[in-house]
Amino acid sequence: MLYQRLQRKRILRLVVFTAAVALLCVLAQLSLSQGSLAAGAVLFEASAPQPETLCTLPASPSQALPSPQDFLHHALARNLSLPGGQQEEPAPQQEEPAPQKPFRIALTFDDGPGPYTGRLLDGLAQYNAKATFFVLGYRIPGNETLLARMAAEGHEIGNHSYSHSLFQTMGQSAISAEIRQTADLVETACGVRPWLVRPPYGDLSSPVKEALSEPLVLWSVDPEDWKLRNADAVVRAVMSCVSDGDIVLLHDIHPTSVDAALILLERLSQQGYDFVTVSELFAQAGTPVEQNGHYRQAGPRSEAGLPQQP
Ligand SMILES: [Zn+2]
Repeated sequence: MLYQRLQRKRILRLVVFTAAVALLCVLAQLSLSQGSLAAGAVLFEASAPQPETLCTLPASPSQALPSPQDFLHHALARNLSLPGGQQEEPAPQQEEPAPQKPFRIALTFDDGPGPYTGRLLDGLAQYNAKATFFVLGYRIPGNETLLARMAAEGHEIGNHSYSHSLFQTMGQSAISAEIRQTADLVETACGVRPWLVRPPYGDLSSPVKEALSEPLVLWSVDPEDWKLRNADAVVRAVMSCVSDGDIVLLHDIHPTSVDAALILLERLSQQGYDFVTVSELFAQAGTPVEQNGHYRQAGPRSEAGLPQQP
């Protein structure tokens, strides 16, 4: 009898123990599945769409050029406003504008945008320098963020045609189509429609003048950087002839030209030059840029363009 009672107790304990173990197993499994749910949420977040960039066109794959994320990084670094009000830290208070230097010059860059344009924009920002980019339409798809950055950082974007063809060999409608197509692409990329035109090869022949009513802007200093492909030689060529009101022709598709531009920024800045856009150059010279006008150089800064006396 006593033995049977002891046996029953043992069996009862075994049942209670087994039930407790089973309950613990169920609880452990529940907490594991919650953990994997949380991990799933993290994965989902990581694959959620990235914030839109300032560019409205989808960027096509391009390995050598800055991605929208690169632009986002630059925009954050420079406290530019971003969609959704993202800001890394509050924008610093506006500083007093720097006093104007005695001379000014317009650096212009043709045939881009290209793989070295981002590096050039970094250098221009370092010197608070503004430049003018005469871009080619066929180079815009995939590089929209570079154009958006140019516009956001105060540079001027001009039109250098779509395909860099020699206009004088083409009909009027084909010439104006090249300019219109590129203007459309620029406007879609950065919201600004270019007005200034630099015909490929500086072609100011009659068919070009007849086909286009936009202001045609050439240059007054040509170091032939595309031929020299040597930064020091390009710098020497520019420094040997540059003066107040000049328009300098360079090409940001060559790394040596970008290197030269970065050296020129330092040298010319030390010599008292401000770096302005083509439109600013003519505005400060008191020469309005007009339809059907042709421009190579601006005169010295006019009274109207001089800083106001206190
Ligand atoms: Zn060109």
